[in-house]
Amino acid sequence: MNDPIEGNLARVRERIALAAQRVGRSPSEITLVAVTKTRPPEDLVAAYRAGLRDIGENRVEEAAAKKPLLDLAGLTWHLVGHLQSRKARQAIDLFDVIHSVDSVKLARKLDALAAERGRAIPILLEVNVSGEETKYGLPLGDRGAFEVAVSEIAVLSHLRIDGLMTVASVARDPEEVRPVFARLRVLREELQSRFPRAGWQHLSMGMTDDFSVAVEEGATMLRIGRAIFGPRE
Ligand SMILES: *Cc1c(COP(=O)(O)O)cnc(C)c1O
Repeated sequence: MNDPIEGNLARVRERIALAAQRVGRSPSEITLVAVTKTRPPEDLVAAYRAGLRDIGENRVEEAAAKKPLLDLAGLTWHLVGHLQSRKARQAIDLFDVIHSVDSVKLARKLDALAAERGRAIPILLEVNVSGEETKYGLPLGDRGAFEVAVSEIAVLSHLRIDGLMTVASVARDPEEVRPVFARLRVLREELQSRFPRAGWQHLSMGMTDDFSVAVEEGATMLRIGRAIFGPRE
């Protein structure tokens, strides 16, 4: 089999290792989430054969369509795209980790559903660091309001806050987004001391165009699509 996914993945892993080395981190602290949106199930199988076990999708419907077609043991499914409250029920049945909790309303809905099921679900809080109107995420602009939102989510006993997630802007030079990643890292430290009951161990940041910089700034989860699977149509 001459699947480009295997070679692409080897190159991605090499770049992660180099970036980690530059800042004295171990690549083993970093989870590579293969973002398979728009990709056919065969690509997921190829990624699985190449050793990937963490799959990211950005839409509930797409995961619902693909998952039954796959018979692969030991996968962890990550929802990385915006989640509407009305799809929360379907989302927690399909996904193991939700990276995109971006409102108190959504968090309360997920908490209630998790309580019904008698389990706790791992989530990340999505933060809109840059404050762009077009972006999802809890806005950081009004720091007081942000902390109130976090405190309201932190008390929900069936959610486990594992950390923070952000999507940086598209930039020609990945150095332009370094301050966004650095900001998220500092924010996590601040929240850790304000809300010590939550775990806060993860920083989900870094995609195809900026993952090396994200690793240098402390990312523990990279969400990578095109560098593994090739350009999307
Ligand atoms: C599509 C997507 C990714 C992966 O993007 P690439 O540029 O293909 O690596 C990561 N995170 C989110 C939220 C996405 O929607």
